[in-house]
Amino acid sequence: MRLVRIGTISIGGGNPVAIQSMAATKTSDIKATVSTCQRLADAGASVVRIAVDSKNDAAALSEIRKQTTANLSVDLQENYKLAELVAPHVDKIRYNPGHLHHSETQTSWKDKVKFIVQAAKDNNCAIRIGVNCGSLDPTLSQNNKTDKNIDPMIRSAIEHAEFIDTLNFTQYCVSIKSSDPDTVIAANRRFYNIRPDIPLHLGVTEAGLLPEGLIKSRAALEPLLADGIGATLRVSLTVSNNRKEEEIIAGKLILDNVKNGKIYSGSWKQTALNIISCPSCARVENDRFVTLAEQIYEKTRPIQNYPLTIAVMGCRVNGPGETDNADFGVWCGTNSVNLKHKGTIIGTFSYNEIVTKLLELIKSCF
Ligand code: SF4
Repeated sequence: MRLVRIGTISIGGGNPVAIQSMAATKTSDIKATVSTCQRLADAGASVVRIAVDSKNDAAALSEIRKQTTANLSVDLQENYKLAELVAPHVDKIRYNPGHLHHSETQTSWKDKVKFIVQAAKDNNCAIRIGVNCGSLDPTLSQNNKTDKNIDPMIRSAIEHAEFIDTLNFTQYCVSIKSSDPDTVIAANRRFYNIRPDIPLHLGVTEAGLLPEGLIKSRAALEPLLADGIGATLRVSLTVSNNRKEEEIIAGKLILDNVKNGKIYSGSWKQTALNIISCPSCARVENDRFVTLAEQIYEKTRPIQNYPLTIAVMGCRVNGPGETDNADFGVWCGTNSVNLKHKGTIIGTFSYNEIVTKLLELIKSCF
């Protein structure tokens, strides 16, 4: 497996698996973001990811860079051009192939990737191609529930890796994430069989609240790590920013257990209620998101034996797509929350109303 350098660490090439986490502060709030990055680095995060959505966020990065020793990764969404503004200040840029199709559609995805790669080359940055089940490249077939979108995810990852290879750039890794642990295992195994040279970043997206978030992450990560697959990992947990260290503690525990042959997880079979929720980040539309996820978890205890999936997402960037395959989905806006049933929008409700409306909707479906 090739070696990829991310700031002060190297991944792949026989290095220990590195743990990653993400700041959930507003990136333009320099003081809070620096404090979170440093706290997470001190707790053992080898890389800390930050969301950048605007020129203001990008401008804040140069100051954040000066004030923390953490290795920083930036998460680009639709605005690929921010790559040239952020690259001088960070160690890794993550882009999602699916998001490159959302705006500036007259520019091909290849030209956008060329732009990102050039920014990375010019500034000695690594790249992560971050494929996500809920926000796939729309030109690849979607919502094929029979194979849980594994084929399009693999095709997207391979297509981007092969294109970046043609640009003579080797400093990249790949992630293929889903909220379903078995899909994460199958997709990463398949990718690894095709491209064992590329370091993989492992994780279950929207794993949710504790303890389920940790259980799902273990179920996916243990078998892969035990087979030597994975160069970095993140245990995504829906916890408030002041508890983000718990992602690192969980990651260390999994790595330590696998190293010592303590494999607890088997296959993940959904026989009961499955609440998937995002870990929240700088993009979260309202600070009430984590409390909302906790309330939904508590209020749905009476139906916990029903094999339904409820998706709870913090913003409109990933909310609409990531709730599509759930039985019920909510995603946050600034002052209201959107409610969806099997891919169809039901309405928009206030933060005070949404839990009741969700429960009424679930009841009406029985
Ligand atoms: S859904 Fe939005 S708030 Fe939640 S982690 Fe993803 S980008 Fe951040």
